[in-house]
Amino acid sequence: MEHFDVIVIGGGHAGTEAAHASARMGTKTALITLDQTRIGFLSCNPAVGGLAKGQLVKEIDALGGLMGINTDKTGIQFKRLNASKGPAVRSSRAQCDKKRYAQEMQKTLKITENLTILENEISGLVLEKSKITGVTLKDGTKINTYCVIITSGTFLQAIMHMGEEKTEGGRVGDRSSKDLSADLKNLGFKLRRLKTGTPPRLDKDSIDWAGLESQTGDIKPIPFSFYIKSLPFPVLSQVSCFITHTNEKAHEIIVKNLLRSPMYSGQITGIGPRYCPSIEDKVKRFSDKRSHQLFLEPEGLDVPEIYVNGISTSLPRDVQDEFVHNIKGLERARFLKYGYAVEYDAVDSRQLKRTLESKDIEGLFFAGQVNGTSGYEEAGAQGIIAGINASLKASSLDPFVLERNDGYIGVLIDDLTLIGSDEPYRMFTSRAEYRLLLREDNADQRLSEKAWKIKILNDDKFAIFNRKMDELAKWKKSAAESFFYPTDETNQKLALRNLTAIKDRVSASVMLKRPDIDWNILTELGFDGSQASDEIKEQIEIELKYEGYIHRDLQMLEGVRKSERTEIPNGLKFEDIPGISNEIRLKLNQTRPETLGQASRISGVTPAAVANLMIYIRNQKEISGSRHL
Ligand SMILES: Cc1cc2nc3c(=O)[nH]c(=O)nc-3n(C[C@H](O)[C@H](O)[C@H](O)COP(=O)(O)OP(=O)(O)OC[C@H]3O[C@@H](n4cnc5c(N)ncnc54)[C@H](O)[C@@H]3O)c2cc1C
Repeated sequence: MEHFDVIVIGGGHAGTEAAHASARMGTKTALITLDQTRIGFLSCNPAVGGLAKGQLVKEIDALGGLMGINTDKTGIQFKRLNASKGPAVRSSRAQCDKKRYAQEMQKTLKITENLTILENEISGLVLEKSKITGVTLKDGTKINTYCVIITSGTFLQAIMHMGEEKTEGGRVGDRSSKDLSADLKNLGFKLRRLKTGTPPRLDKDSIDWAGLESQTGDIKPIPFSFYIKSLPFPVLSQVSCFITHTNEKAHEIIVKNLLRSPMYSGQITGIGPRYCPSIEDKVKRFSDKRSHQLFLEPEGLDVPEIYVNGISTSLPRDVQDEFVHNIKGLERARFLKYGYAVEYDAVDSRQLKRTLESKDIEGLFFAGQVNGTSGYEEAGAQGIIAGINASLKASSLDPFVLERNDGYIGVLIDDLTLIGSDEPYRMFTSRAEYRLLLREDNADQRLSEKAWKIKILNDDKFAIFNRKMDELAKWKKSAAESFFYPTDETNQKLALRNLTAIKDRVSASVMLKRPDIDWNILTELGFDGSQASDEIKEQIEIELKYEGYIHRDLQMLEGVRKSERTEIPNGLKFEDIPGISNEIRLKLNQTRPETLGQASRISGVTPAAVANLMIYIRNQKEISGSRHL
């Protein structure tokens, strides 16, 4: 019988990262998926990154993963979101060429050593006692293995809905995976029904573009990958997206037909993502809004499909036709695909350890949408962690766990395994308590060395990281040792830019702390820094300008670490503590923890709540201490 050390079920965004990570660590790995030609397929919007999701992509890249570089190779519009806001919330997003994204991913996996790709359906798991020993294919064939990673996405018992029409399948053009779901239930896994939806795709030649507002990407796009420096960037030609809006007439049509939407008729019982509502939901929930903004996004350079971002729907075809044709620019639009919703089984992620291995079945891992998340980035992030840990387990090595302060990946997995989620979970910057430490620009500084130590990052990439760190140190030193003097010439140059004059000798580093001065102004004032790369300039500016806040976050982190044994006073009223949710207050009241360490381990009590509790206890101590004086 054939044997692989690790078997990955599924070739979506979790599966590709998992298989690549496991194989890259030298483990004999098989990726088994329903359809080889759909490996790396972007099921919904061909866009990667976005708020908080961009950080996940950067972290996947820092760990040597594929999503960032694959996006760099196939992006057709790159945009830094929140570019003018604080560094903690800056995130990158790229519109990709859908066809090329999947092709590029398949090309990379095909040449990955230790990786075999097989097209088949896994119908069950083989166990001895509570340990994985293999998988069963649809035709009954068994394959031996030490570890299995299930990354089945939206495919378990999947049903697609469009109006009254119901079809089996994980997405249009793909079938459903039925037996695996039943097998998991038999093994005692708690499953629940979730739902997601997608908007129509329209033919670009049938849209009246004149009069629609265009939205271009960044003039100087920034790649996702930290390590690929030789790529001429951007690789592909860049395109514009366009903006249009729904209107009262379109809303009226939707409201009139709400009961024909399977979500409102009761046909769909699964829970959908609240933050990514369908147009039916938007019109119903925000009934006072007269219009909603829509983005018309090309799905590629040489394909006719335009993705209509903002009208995810499962209304029947005739209703989609009617309301879309009432939107400016879309009056004569030809539908290439209608919008639809998909309902599927997901596992309760609280049944998993932080390695993403099942708590009950040894060697069985889960990653991606099957764990109740939504989004490519969340899936890829889990995939790489599951792939690393399955490989480590197969080699009897210690597990690899990222903490919440290591990255958004740590936050994601901690939330999933500790708290779980009633609805499809997506990442937000607000979920992370140390946002200023977990920036996009420093993901490599947080993760590259950790990745290199477990051999998931190769020496070449680690050398690129070390060269960057040398450059950073060189330029930091140069800025600290270059001085400006309060000469007439310098102060005149400052005055010309409406900047406050200097009165004493100041270093370039100190000048950079001023909010109105950036690296480029410093070089115009005479600092010899024009040779520094944009990446280095940005990093030094952030570190200097936000030094105080970064220091505060680091202190808070240290405080939380040290506070493990801090006693919670008996009789403390949890309802008095500001900044924590009622749900968490209830949990604390029910459990009555004695120390902060205990509080932090209560399922559902977030690290942010523990930090608030710690501050409250400390303040109370100070108040009662000062009363005694
Ligand atoms: C209709 C639709 C709408 C969506 N809308 C959004 C959205 O608005 N926003 C958003 O962020 N995300 C959306 N998504 C979700 C996004 O596509 C997923 O988050 C992402 O693809 C999840 O990646 P994954 O690797 O977990 O699973 P998938 O990409 O779904 O991949 C699953 C893989 O598992 C394989 N597989 C399943 N069962 C078996 C089996 N038994 N044997 C072998 N192979 C198997 C499949 O062939 C597939 O390759 C949508 C998805 C769909 C289908």
